[in-house]
Amino acid sequence: MPDGFGVYLHVPFCLSKCPYCDFCSFPGSNGEDRENYVKAVLREIEERGFPVRRATSVFFGGGTPALLTERQFDALLSAVAKKYGLSDGAEITFEMNPATADREKLRALASLGFNRVSIGCQSLDDGELRALGRAHTAEDVLMAYEDALAAGFSNINLDLMYGIPRQTAGSFAKTLAKAVSLGPTHISSYGLIVEEGTPFFDRQTTLGLPGEDAEADLYAMASQTLRSPVRGTNAATICCIGGRASTPGTVFPPRRISGVSARRTHAISKRISRLPRRASRRRPS
Ligand code: SF4
Repeated sequence: MPDGFGVYLHVPFCLSKCPYCDFCSFPGSNGEDRENYVKAVLREIEERGFPVRRATSVFFGGGTPALLTERQFDALLSAVAKKYGLSDGAEITFEMNPATADREKLRALASLGFNRVSIGCQSLDDGELRALGRAHTAEDVLMAYEDALAAGFSNINLDLMYGIPRQTAGSFAKTLAKAVSLGPTHISSYGLIVEEGTPFFDRQTTLGLPGEDAEADLYAMASQTLRSPVRGTNAATICCIGGRASTPGTVFPPRRISGVSARRTHAISKRISRLPRRASRRRPS
């Protein structure tokens, strides 16, 4: 059977709901909710068509997948492996909120076959993390990173965000520099999108969001920092929300930066067009 197939499993449970988030995620779940959900996903895997290719990647995203137990991770991953097969060297990732980092659990997941962890860092500035309503601090991110290394993960992604309320060029530069200094294999930087139906949408005029030009400059800073070979970082990629990054140094143009501003997207696209063309630009798929 040929390779070339990715499996994404969504785990829609979170510790709390971030005020900018419009993903399918629910705070306040209990063990029974999670068990019922896992059983439903197992049924779905069982009932879905037959495999024609082996999976080259499996990604547990959310939500906050670490709210599942090791047994539930094992059951889901085993079901995927049994149904589709995993190619040699398949990349098996789970997304980790730094608030849920737990070295023992990381070790257990490594022993189940997980070989990549994606840490939802967003910022290394505590004021910005508070503004985002995140359930963790910058220190928690550093500890989560250490825990992942200690558990044997060498393939680690850090998600960062730009366009955060009251974010400045200086604070973003510090976050980027700190993230790069950790030496992850991958960094993804996403623009905050203020989505209708979220608490941020109702408060957007008072949040202190960076203006169009300032946000364009943040994007340009991230793309210039991350597209270059950076010492200590094997591969760095910047992409916009909804983008999928697999090629080191790839810069995705922003597809949509704000739910309300086509002008903002245009301003950022103009900035990008002036960047030196060291890497090919691809649209997010
Ligand atoms: S942790 Fe992620 S998925 Fe959960 S509410 Fe916050 S942004 Fe949404």
